[in-house]
Amino acid sequence: MAKSERSAFEEVNKKVSQAGEILNLKSGLIDALQQCEREVVISIPLRHEKDIRVLTGYRVQHSSARGPRKGGIRFHQEVDLDEVRALASLMTWKTALIDVPFGGAKGGVAVDASTLTDIEKEEIIRRWTRQIVHVLGHQRDIPAPDMGTDAKTMAWLMDEFHRLEGFQPACVTGKPLELFGAPGREEATGRGVAMIAAATLEKHDKKVRGARVAIQGFGNVGRFAALACQELGFKVVAISDVTGGIAKREGIDVEELLSVKTLKEVPGYSHIAPHEVLEQKCEVLIPAALGGVINESNVEKIDCEFVVEGANQPTTFEADQELRKAGVIVVPDILANAGGVMGSYFEWTQNIQQFSWPIEKFRKELDARMAKAFADVFKEAKKHSVDLRTAAFVLAVRRVSDAFGLRGSLV
Ligand code: NAD
Repeated sequence: MAKSERSAFEEVNKKVSQAGEILNLKSGLIDALQQCEREVVISIPLRHEKDIRVLTGYRVQHSSARGPRKGGIRFHQEVDLDEVRALASLMTWKTALIDVPFGGAKGGVAVDASTLTDIEKEEIIRRWTRQIVHVLGHQRDIPAPDMGTDAKTMAWLMDEFHRLEGFQPACVTGKPLELFGAPGREEATGRGVAMIAAATLEKHDKKVRGARVAIQGFGNVGRFAALACQELGFKVVAISDVTGGIAKREGIDVEELLSVKTLKEVPGYSHIAPHEVLEQKCEVLIPAALGGVINESNVEKIDCEFVVEGANQPTTFEADQELRKAGVIVVPDILANAGGVMGSYFEWTQNIQQFSWPIEKFRKELDARMAKAFADVFKEAKKHSVDLRTAAFVLAVRRVSDAFGLRGSLV
């Protein structure tokens, strides 16, 4: 995934080590906090055309120090054990950073979701659930959507779980509204990204109104981030999906794009390649698709003042250092895209209480808690004179190591 000399998991662990050193943690403790608690690898034989394809599925539970493990499930051809470990670990630090009572996990299936029929998708997620049901549950490990999966996938997962274990809607989040989903959850990640982008500009005495934004990805995160940015007064000047990108200096009408299938087909705009969106001149760049997209090969072409990481791990360690040298402020993934798991927390609590919130309450809580997380990270950055990513990891690692120690996790 990440075009770096380190693997994706090593990249996360490098940041955990740095934070642990700032906190003066023993090296053995840092090592313990970095390891994954449990890893499950399964095979999923799938009837395909006239043959059989065997897919590999994963669930990695990184930490339960602060609560049941929480994390999405991704269907993507580049999914492998290292990537799932990295993403599971990021969930541990993200949930600690925003102070919700969860640990970290992640799942995936190595398959190109765009090649699957709905029936195949349903069969895959049902098989995935059946094979690992013993480690799932609302007090153990709660999946959610990620790249290549959506609310419909979560409904099938929940249905399979119910068949095996009985009624427990809180066993998964990101469900459809008609099936115990929470109004506000679907937009939560993108909304959080936009809110954090606006707060970052304001903190640096920059105007939000008219500030140019370029967004890579027009899926769940990119789409809602683009809409919320437009609502906040930003000017969205470029967007891309896997098929291609569009750009317009005067600003793109995001709502107009909601009904199109692929951005490649949209008339009336300059067309660019999917990766070129990263090189557009703008104030705020939001990578909201794949990991490792800002790397040594293109970092010199990045032409923005702020990178707000909507995707997980979009910036490699080396590129991050280069951006900092160039004076670009990077708002890290574990803060910028944490609105999704914050929203999942609201859905989970509502399911457990069998009570639902109106969307206004959801948005108000989300905005207030994201603003608090943002303020906490800025305070930490000042305290240690470090960049925002290091500060976010210092705060998260401190909370997890405190919980780890207090509950007697060492044998
Ligand atoms: P998604 O599958 O809904 O959308 C992914 C988007 O990326 C699509 O528009 C796709 O066309 C585009 N894309 C794929 N490859 C591309 C490429 N090479 N160039 C340009 N665009 C490309 O996925 P999502 O849920 O929006 O997740 C996007 C990222 O955000 C992932 O890194 C994910 O881990 C992270 N994330 C998602 C959530 C969530 O709640 N969905 C929460 C936190 C973080």
